[in-house]
Amino acid sequence: MLFRLSKNSFVRVYDDFGYIVNQCTKKDRIYNKIGSLFLNKISRVPKDIKEVVKTVHTLFHNVSYEVIENDFCEFLNDLEKNKFIVTGYSIEELISKDCSFTYSFSDTTSDSFPDTFKQTNLPKTKKVLNNKFYKNPTLFALQIELTTHCNENCIHCYIPNSRRGNILDFKTVCSVLDQARILKTLALSFSGGEPLLHPDFSEIIQYARENDFSVSVLTNLTYSVSLLT
Ligand code: SF4
Repeated sequence: MLFRLSKNSFVRVYDDFGYIVNQCTKKDRIYNKIGSLFLNKISRVPKDIKEVVKTVHTLFHNVSYEVIENDFCEFLNDLEKNKFIVTGYSIEELISKDCSFTYSFSDTTSDSFPDTFKQTNLPKTKKVLNNKFYKNPTLFALQIELTTHCNENCIHCYIPNSRRGNILDFKTVCSVLDQARILKTLALSFSGGEPLLHPDFSEIIQYARENDFSVSVLTNLTYSVSLLT
């Protein structure tokens, strides 16, 4: 049986906890160190459950293979039920189960997940993140103003006409994203002006996704651009 991260989900593992979030459902989870060990095994690359359990088993000599397998399957079941991952017997099945968007996501109401992996002292995700980043400030979310160009001329716009026409070049954007990746930044928001007017917009989005960022675009929705496939 194979598993992999669903395309709308993102994982970040820190020293003391692990975090997973689905950008569509807005559901998230905080895991303790044991849960983080399992979480670290989930990526966009399909993996075989038995192979992963074998790897984890080498870290826990005094625990039987069967116990680790049960725990790992319980862990994956919860994640799959809540759309964080997909499982299947073939790559095609994984792809067919990984939908881009559906309003039925709002039906994934179960917030219970196995106690073994829970961050027990600080049960609320927001509290754990606030606590972590208050003590160790880092760049968890980043907004990048790609250009001051815009195809509109709103009276309330905060960009004065004298500042219209600036473009952040592609290399600089990539360099910022590279640094953000090292800092384990999760969420990127591209704004402007109108970000879709950036000449390299689709390449920037592609680069951001290849580097596993959760991406949002703040646009006025009056302009369309073809994204690379
Ligand atoms: S759409 Fe936004 S960026 Fe463009 S002029 Fe209006 S407020 Fe400014």
